[in-house]
Amino acid sequence: RGGVAEREVPFAKAGSLTRVYAVASGKGGVGKSSVTANLAAALADQGLRVGVVDADIYGFSIPRMLGVEGRPTQVDDMILPPLSHDVKVISIGMFVPGNQPVVWRGPMLHRALQQFLADVFWGDLDVLLLDLPPGTGDIAISTAQLIPGAEILVVTTPQQAAAEVAERAGAIALQTHQRVAGVIENMSWLELPDGTRQEIFGSGGGQEVAESLTRAIGSEVKLLGQIPLDTRLRIGADEGMPVVLGSPDSPAAVALRGIARGL
Ligand code: ADP
Repeated sequence: RGGVAEREVPFAKAGSLTRVYAVASGKGGVGKSSVTANLAAALADQGLRVGVVDADIYGFSIPRMLGVEGRPTQVDDMILPPLSHDVKVISIGMFVPGNQPVVWRGPMLHRALQQFLADVFWGDLDVLLLDLPPGTGDIAISTAQLIPGAEILVVTTPQQAAAEVAERAGAIALQTHQRVAGVIENMSWLELPDGTRQEIFGSGGGQEVAESLTRAIGSEVKLLGQIPLDTRLRIGADEGMPVVLGSPDSPAAVALRGIARGL
């Protein structure tokens, strides 16, 4: 819409009743998208009206994880998001021809995010989850500018190195004055058939990030939960059936549903 004024982001308006969570991680591969997809499905399963913006330009894995089959459709000058498991989903991957990698610069990303928020017909949402790209990049700052009330959820693994970069991702919130809703530790352990827990990626990373952010921000940042390694989570993600719906009694699903209830 060249020359036409940008539409206001509804979630940024005073009195918006939508809670917005930006899911962030220091690096890729820690399960940020898996956590986002499962929290979205769990919240929708609780009866909440849920939307997800997949802004992870490097991954755009949310549609597959949530089993989205439809495409966004255009009605007048608004975009209708496809729905899967009662979650409205818009992904940057839906607008990239042939899902080819594209070089995104900061301003392009900002503009894309602005459009995802303002030009998509979300209707009334209780919760909007944003899957951010890993790291401390421009899009975290854009999120803060576009939705000042967005709260950050930091995902980390128990590993020391992952915890350190996750801390930096969370510390962005200090600069942007956003609230950190909490820390989620993923891949915390593997439960062996005899019931013992094997800590494949070490331990303590989530607690450490929570404590470090608490010190940095000056108000309590909680560790919201620990999600074990679970083959069913990975299979569910590959098959488009989030583990919280497909195997709700599995340890990872129980942890994720607990975190969703506490949000
Ligand atoms: P990120 O978004 O941080 O890059 P993903 O959510 O894409 O990470 O997860 C990376 C891979 O690890 C995916 O194949 C996913 O299915 C798998 N995975 C994530 N969390 C778990 C878990 N708790 N147990 C088993 N597999 C997991």
